[in-house]
Amino acid sequence: MSNFSNHNFKGEKALVRVDFNVPLDENFHITDDNRMTATIPTIKKILNDGGSAILMSHFGRPKDGPTDKYSLKHLVKHLNELLGADTKVFFANDCIGEQAYLTASMLRSGEVLLLENLRFYKEEEKGDEAFAEKLSKLGDVYVNDAFGTAHRAHASTAVIAKYFEADKKMFGLLMESEVKSAEKVLHESEKPFCAIIGGAKVSDKILIIENLLERATDIIIGGGMAYTFLKARGGKIGNSLCEDDRLETALEILEKAKQKNVSIHLPEDSVIADKFAADANTEICSSDAIPDGWMGLDIGPKAVGVFSEVINKSKTILWNGPMGVFEMEKFQNGTKTIALAVAESTSNGAFSLVGGGDSVAAVNKFDLADKVSYVSTGGGAMLEYFEGKVLPGIAAIKG
Ligand code: AMP
Repeated sequence: MSNFSNHNFKGEKALVRVDFNVPLDENFHITDDNRMTATIPTIKKILNDGGSAILMSHFGRPKDGPTDKYSLKHLVKHLNELLGADTKVFFANDCIGEQAYLTASMLRSGEVLLLENLRFYKEEEKGDEAFAEKLSKLGDVYVNDAFGTAHRAHASTAVIAKYFEADKKMFGLLMESEVKSAEKVLHESEKPFCAIIGGAKVSDKILIIENLLERATDIIIGGGMAYTFLKARGGKIGNSLCEDDRLETALEILEKAKQKNVSIHLPEDSVIADKFAADANTEICSSDAIPDGWMGLDIGPKAVGVFSEVINKSKTILWNGPMGVFEMEKFQNGTKTIALAVAESTSNGAFSLVGGGDSVAAVNKFDLADKVSYVSTGGGAMLEYFEGKVLPGIAAIKG
């Protein structure tokens, strides 16, 4: 693989896989452009070098070929605003085929071409080789800047790489920093290494916890998933979230942690509610003595104290999943104080990585995104990376 920052794109057409899968409202207005802004530095470096950029992306989940709703044409205007009015941005209403090739071949240095949605072809998600090869003909060099889809072995994210020589394929700046941060946490973590795992379901997080048992010093478990562990240990959890078919697994994880000398921290107390609603009545209660009819919707003050102490003494922190139903004000305190503890520990020198949809939403909600070391843009990809899986999008470039 080549190094993006050292590569000179002068005179080259760079075929860049971006993740422009942004949310739109019913009038086709972008409601959150983070995925687009995150990749702008990569595009600008190519243009500033004197190259041109051909951008390809998936967009939504179109079922049967081209549909207006899933056309990337709705993004052209905003892309042009982000790149600056003096940058020419063209659109091809197909990602392969004559018009795409013709526009790509006429592209001049400093210009950008956005191709139509890759998923208008079923071949994209199937990882079809002939389709990948057709795409590869559009550019001289392949840049993958779509970390969010790095866990998929699709034509444009992985298969395509084999049609480029080693010095003509590379990660873009966004992908590079995602991979660097993830590797730093998983393979070069300074100890103590604390993983904070929360969210609703144990079943979604079993693989990540098992992999972290090999690496972390402490694992904090909060959110709805904590109650399956608490019940497995013999606690009374009332109507709290519980996956009864995972009680055995929860016990095995607790046992394994003991053998490996990893401290698992469960919330000693909880904010309990008499219904799952923003206006519920609430109480503070020991997490293993929750009355019937009540449910734990946030970690309690004692848990916040213990968890914050663990976070404060850590040198590496990985956070995935909220500590409670942080979308409702009455149950946001746990997630908010843990976010503050992560920010404080970071300011004292720890390296902190926040990854996974809801924890990212939480640090954004509490305005703390710039107070942690790295906020990952790749929810599913980041999760699979920390489960110890090889991500096809990374492997295809690294070779
Ligand atoms: P996940 O997608 O698995 O990370 O779960 C995130 C969701 O879990 C958020 O929408 C939270 O509201 C929810 N959640 C967190 N804690 C609890 C809890 N104690 N009970 C029910 N839902 C929870």
